[in-house]
Amino acid sequence: MRVLVVEDEVELAAGIRRGLEAEGYAVDVAYDGIDGLWRATEHEYGAIVLDLMLPGKNGLQVCAELRAAGRWTPVLVLTARDGERDETQSLDTGADDFLAKPFSPVVLAARLRALLRRGAGERPTELRAGDLRLDPGSRRVWRGDDELALTARETSLLEFLLRRKGETVSKLQVLDNVWDDMFEGDPNIVEVYMRRLRNKVDRPYGRHTITTVRGSGYRLDGPDG
Ligand code: CA
Repeated sequence: MRVLVVEDEVELAAGIRRGLEAEGYAVDVAYDGIDGLWRATEHEYGAIVLDLMLPGKNGLQVCAELRAAGRWTPVLVLTARDGERDETQSLDTGADDFLAKPFSPVVLAARLRALLRRGAGERPTELRAGDLRLDPGSRRVWRGDDELALTARETSLLEFLLRRKGETVSKLQVLDNVWDDMFEGDPNIVEVYMRRLRNKVDRPYGRHTITTVRGSGYRLDGPDG
């Protein structure tokens, strides 16, 4: 069984590798999010051990992009902080389990075994807000029976809002998650894209799914909250 470990702390990564190799796993290590995502997309792994705080792309982004690409390899997220929010967010982006640092190699191996036994399992494929639906696997979007023509960026933006349905997200959060870390342009690009998105998913249907929250950001609501 081949396992990918994405962890930027070299010593910790080496420790995890030793522990898992002792359990009979073949282990590949990536030291940043970009390489991790690339490996996870290019190779078939039995499972992925994914750190959250990573250079390049953080663990949540890696997991979300992997799921968006239709890859359902079981993911065990390592959280540095004892943050309930991290854990909830990890599960929202499609992680299967999480383990708070520091942990013992024995516990990691046991959690990984449990994860592998459970397998990839059934996934909720569709994100919805009322009759607005997005399929993260195929990147297709519908309002009722109409399929909408969204660009890749508009789709990513809508996916981000749908995954945080009912929450207010700041312009900065949108930039961090929908544009890559290298983006150094005008943050007002977010407004431009919000307008385009509304013109496609809301306006023609007389809806107000996406609201601007004055001074703080944006929120997508569904009839179901
Ligand atoms: Ca880290």
